[in-house]
Amino acid sequence: MPGDALSQDPAELRRRIDTTKAHPARVYDVFLGGKDNYPVDRSAAAAAIVANPRGYLDVRHNRDFLRRAVTTLTQEAGIRQFLDIGTGLPTQENVHQIAQRITPESRVVYVDNDPVVLAHARALLTSGPEGQTDYIDADLGEPGRILEGAAKTLDFEQPIALVLVAILHFIEDEQAYPIVRELVEALPSGSRLVLSHLTEDLNAENIRAVQRTFTERGFTFVLRSRAEVERFFTENGLEVEEPGVVPVHRWRPDGAAPLPEKVDPAYFAGLDDIEK
Ligand code: SAH
Repeated sequence: MPGDALSQDPAELRRRIDTTKAHPARVYDVFLGGKDNYPVDRSAAAAAIVANPRGYLDVRHNRDFLRRAVTTLTQEAGIRQFLDIGTGLPTQENVHQIAQRITPESRVVYVDNDPVVLAHARALLTSGPEGQTDYIDADLGEPGRILEGAAKTLDFEQPIALVLVAILHFIEDEQAYPIVRELVEALPSGSRLVLSHLTEDLNAENIRAVQRTFTERGFTFVLRSRAEVERFFTENGLEVEEPGVVPVHRWRPDGAAPLPEKVDPAYFAGLDDIEK
């Protein structure tokens, strides 16, 4: 039943939250100016900012790509269902708010493995009456569980946008490519794959320094080249829609993103049509 995420035992949830080690969702929240983070996350974010002083802006560009992609899919491609894996902590504009503003009947299933995101899942379960949202507490490494849980809310006979925005760099190659394949294969024709990914092709020196600060803190942090990001699409027989895999702020800009700077944000973005 949607809302199962809210029936978590609070004591068990507290036990799962590790405040001795930085976590990606919480560090990302620091960059977005959120308050759902701990000193250890703020310290990790501070180290990353020393390595790449414009990192906070990169994150905003990435988040704005997500807004534009969801808007485009809702407005122009008639997509009514989203499976957003690696949701992150709720912010002002989550996928369902963006989509339902345009199409109130939009349905969104959120997935994250971080207990702090689960603790804040209530803010994601605020669908308007015509649509629906659900939250699944699961790891991207368990695509079968994710698909089974998502099927309670999403109709797998109708197109679904699979949103993998700023998550795949936390997954090693041996897992990442097969997982994306399994998820894409489960989606019906007319679905879409939306992804963004940190890369060392852009702003290489700084971003490698960021990678060092994060790997020292125990994160898996795989920077992929443009070709490696494109492989998520091409090896599944998909052709990336215009403008291809590009620096995030160049993906169909609508003028609302933060001002571009001299250096491209270190994220690539792309979107694809899944035709079968
Ligand atoms: N997609 C959002 C948030 C990106 S932060 C955005 O782009 O704005 C990355 C998120 O992925 C974090 O919330 C983190 O908890 C989640 N994540 C990382 N590895 C994961 C995994 N293996 N399974 C599920 N979620 C994961």
